[in-house]
Amino acid sequence: MPELPEVQTVVNEIKKQKLVGEKIKDVEILVPSLVAPMDTAAFAKALKGRKITDLSRRAKYIVATLDDGNYFISHLRMSGHFVTIDAKEERGRFERARITFANGKALRYDDIRKFGRFNLVKDKEEILGKLGPEPLEKSFTPKLLFSLFPKDKKVKLCVKAWLLDQTNVAGLGNIYVDEALWLAKIHPERPAASITMREAEALRDAIQSVLKKGIANSGTSLGHTQGNFISADGKHGNNAETLNVFHRQGKPCPRCGAIIEKSVVAQRGTHICPNCQKK
Ligand SMILES: [Zn+2]
Repeated sequence: MPELPEVQTVVNEIKKQKLVGEKIKDVEILVPSLVAPMDTAAFAKALKGRKITDLSRRAKYIVATLDDGNYFISHLRMSGHFVTIDAKEERGRFERARITFANGKALRYDDIRKFGRFNLVKDKEEILGKLGPEPLEKSFTPKLLFSLFPKDKKVKLCVKAWLLDQTNVAGLGNIYVDEALWLAKIHPERPAASITMREAEALRDAIQSVLKKGIANSGTSLGHTQGNFISADGKHGNNAETLNVFHRQGKPCPRCGAIIEKSVVAQRGTHICPNCQKK
């Protein structure tokens, strides 16, 4: 699933293609579930003739501000891709929607698994209101992160599950959580309530470091099939080769040489160095 760096890469790429400020000429929604509960025709009608005045990211959402004050908010979920194409290009095999612009370019939305979602709302807080803080903001200090962790020692929720919950910290998913916990030398099964101020400092730095590297490398693509991350320029990300633990089970830890192990934590495949990350 695309995480913060992948979604940011898509936003950066669409901006580079100069689609912000262009008038939307046509909208085709090919899969009704993409815009549900809205009707496909109503969705297309509301978007047609509008201009995107601003494009940004919040957590794993792509937020397009429209010139009528509404917001077009999309979530790529498991396997969604936006690809910028020439409007005349033929229908793609996994194409689920197409937004055509007045300048002859189009945004094609491909989604092999069809879990992606498009929303059109007047109040963006309807979708984004419950999200936790953005981890790359200046305000995301170690003190803030520490203050967010549960303080009741009876709370058994592990730190990995806590980090994956978008209402605690926004934008993290399985890959970057494993990478950040390894960098901060914290075991993913540690109770979130047991994280000390010192560990919160290391974890804040680690989260920012892995996310910044992910963005600098245009995201992580774990393979080269349609189900993997592809940015709006049709390219795969380069971050996979730089990962330290994720998908590296059986290989040596880059820090200490111990063999990286894979287990299941918070129902997700989890990668740790048993020497660097002690329970
Ligand atoms: Zn190690």
